[in-house]
Amino acid sequence: MLRKIRIPVQLGFLLLFLYLLIRTLGTGEDSLGSPVRIFLEIDPLVGLTTWLRTGALHGLLALSGITILLSFLLGRFFCGWVCPLGTLSQITARIARPRREERTSDSWRPSQRWKYLVLGAVVAGSLAGSLWTGLLDPLCLLIRSLTVGFAPPLERILRGGAALLASGPLGTLSEPAYRWLRDNTLAPRAPSYEQSALMASILLLLLALSWVRRRFWCRVLCPLGALLGAVARVGTLRLRQSESACSGCTLCTFHCQGAADPDRMGGWRPSECFVCGNCTASCAREGLSFGFGRPRLSAIFPSDWVRRTKPATTATIGGIEVGRRRLLIAIGIGAISGPIGRASPSRGQPPASLIRPPGAGTEYEFLDKCVRCGECMKVCPGNGLHPIALEAGPLALWTPALRFAHGYCEYHCTLCGQVCPTGAIPLLSQREKERTVVGLAYVDVPLCLPYAYATPCIVCEEHCPTSPKAITLVEAEVRGFDGAQKSVRQPRVDPHLCVGCGICEYRCPVEGDAAIRVYATGRTGEGGPFDFSLSRAAPRGRETEEIA
Ligand code: SF4
Ligand code: SF4
Ligand code: SF4
Repeated sequence: MLRKIRIPVQLGFLLLFLYLLIRTLGTGEDSLGSPVRIFLEIDPLVGLTTWLRTGALHGLLALSGITILLSFLLGRFFCGWVCPLGTLSQITARIARPRREERTSDSWRPSQRWKYLVLGAVVAGSLAGSLWTGLLDPLCLLIRSLTVGFAPPLERILRGGAALLASGPLGTLSEPAYRWLRDNTLAPRAPSYEQSALMASILLLLLALSWVRRRFWCRVLCPLGALLGAVARVGTLRLRQSESACSGCTLCTFHCQGAADPDRMGGWRPSECFVCGNCTASCAREGLSFGFGRPRLSAIFPSDWVRRTKPATTATIGGIEVGRRRLLIAIGIGAISGPIGRASPSRGQPPASLIRPPGAGTEYEFLDKCVRCGECMKVCPGNGLHPIALEAGPLALWTPALRFAHGYCEYHCTLCGQVCPTGAIPLLSQREKERTVVGLAYVDVPLCLPYAYATPCIVCEEHCPTSPKAITLVEAEVRGFDGAQKSVRQPRVDPHLCVGCGICEYRCPVEGDAAIRVYATGRTGEGGPFDFSLSRAAPRGRETEEIA
């Protein structure tokens, strides 16, 4: 019965997750009508670690407390019923099933302790100054991988396929379908991202591990699963096992998704159980059923917990066997990663070419909040935001930055602030956004066509979106290569008006390095000699509007 309800619910959550993912693929809308952050907002690992890091819960992250409460009552239902990465792992394992041996024992293994070590490192890191959550949290990992790794090739296949069909006899049928897709789900232009292949490979590898062992990621590595398992361990859910009905066939353990040992009398492990219901459904003698009991609060710190290094063979209720030394090492690694990362000079002073999303605050403030979920990269209509590698230090790995070689920041857009679940990118009104400075454009005179070659070019001035324009064309008399005097218009950037949106760099026709480039100087709130915020507060031409 439980299994029959679980399967449609699980597929429903997967479809909802994919629908919300598609809703944010940068369709050019000014605001998003759907609760696109909801999966991240109910993720207790995101909630807990950002709260430990910043002392606050942004937006609706407090909803993650409900997940904890429900896990206390219902065990790891989130893993078995809700988590889309869990469902994908399970589907992969299901596909692999014919390859597996006819009938192998699938009981608990010591490697399932590793996830608690991962959790220990992540939590200790959050306390010590390094927010690793996004690297390993399943929802952040899945959203980022699908956005950066899979959406670009899928979009290209869709667009290419539609073009191919349109030229054939099926064109009359395919064209309306493609038009609907284009208007409702596709980005204005097919996105592309840095590190796309790496992100796709990571997800494929994680799913492929399910071929080796069913739901390998969930059983062995997932820190969110470990957190929910720790809660389930002290919670109220029970698996009632009937010794008299059990024939010892171990079918329940064979079908168990979490390797929670439902066949072991008194040895079922609530911290590993996904409440999938496969065990109760597979027992022909109806020897198993779920029920509720009193909370096992004494299980939080059993007297022998820190000394136990081997799997308990006589535990009456499954416990979390984490070796003390291993746990201390994991916590130590997490704790030391913060000070080491912060000591790195690159973190405090990232390269000037690193442009953070609008309103992101100082580098320290940003890294304390960003969980690298990739929502902002997904929603960016200019395809400006990309995951960075190690250029700003290891603590900044896969955080978003604007890359003007690939895209730009749309002047009127506020979408990344709307989707960011942790407030790493603040929610700005359109007016605030238009005044938020992410950098400053510099003309590279030896590369710029009117300066270097006396060749007319007005591309950057044409595209500059500010009003009045931050780029003006100034008439200049220059000597051409034939020695003759020529009059050309050369671009100049007004630092009081430039917001660093980067469309000039993106559109510049000069091959290789653009002849106008944006650097992270003069960002809003940064202060220093490039802080033109006072003049930007009432830009030329807007004074009357401001007073009104
Ligand atoms: S970076 Fe700019 S264009 Fe991209 S989502 Fe954010 S505000 Fe919009
Ligand atoms: S800044 Fe982007 S990647 Fe970081 S938490 Fe916000 S939406 Fe996610
Ligand atoms: S970055 Fe370029 S296009 Fe954007 S406001 Fe500055 S000068 Fe204009």
